[in-house]
Amino acid sequence: MIDPNDYLDAALLLHGHRCPAMPLGLRAGAAAMELLGVERSGGKTLEAILELGDGHCAHCFADGVQMITGCTFGKGNIRKLGYGKFGLTLVDRQTGRAVRVVPRAEAQLQSKQTPFFTEYRMKGISPTEVPQAVVQPLIDKVMAAPAEALLRFGEITAWEVVGGDETFGSFVCARCGDMVVDRYARVVNGHTVCIPCEAALHAPA
Ligand SMILES: [Zn+2]
Ligand SMILES: [Zn+2]
Repeated sequence: MIDPNDYLDAALLLHGHRCPAMPLGLRAGAAAMELLGVERSGGKTLEAILELGDGHCAHCFADGVQMITGCTFGKGNIRKLGYGKFGLTLVDRQTGRAVRVVPRAEAQLQSKQTPFFTEYRMKGISPTEVPQAVVQPLIDKVMAAPAEALLRFGEITAWEVVGGDETFGSFVCARCGDMVVDRYARVVNGHTVCIPCEAALHAPA
């Protein structure tokens, strides 16, 4: 069973500031992994689907999920649906099983009434400028709370796993000299070029 506390320091380093949403992502990811009975994804054995959008309160949640599950932007096994919600569906690609875990609205609303939000974040103060004494109690609370107090758990469902194939083919763009993955190749006047170079060659002079 994965312990979110073991990943908190590394997650703070990745994330760059102290806030309650990132640790909540650690807890949600760990709970989903426990429900599926899976290990952290060193390769692409897991896939994380987040319901988050962009630029809204608490979307720091995603970095906690990345850290604990090993589903990362670089590996391409995490994505956002843009619903502006906090649900996490974790997929075990090896068995085709998935589970959705979502933070409890009550817990998130309670957190929003604390000075971290009312006195700092909602007044436009960057999380990097909030005194540690203000934010640390929120982090401690998220890390210590029973999972059931923080999260709701869905049923384990069957999931159709698609994609995951890798290509190693590449070429050098005839115009800019950058290396490009084969499937992004464009041919202009018999020259194989990258997408921005194709656009540049087609732009009116
Ligand atoms: Zn944050
Ligand atoms: Zn190019």
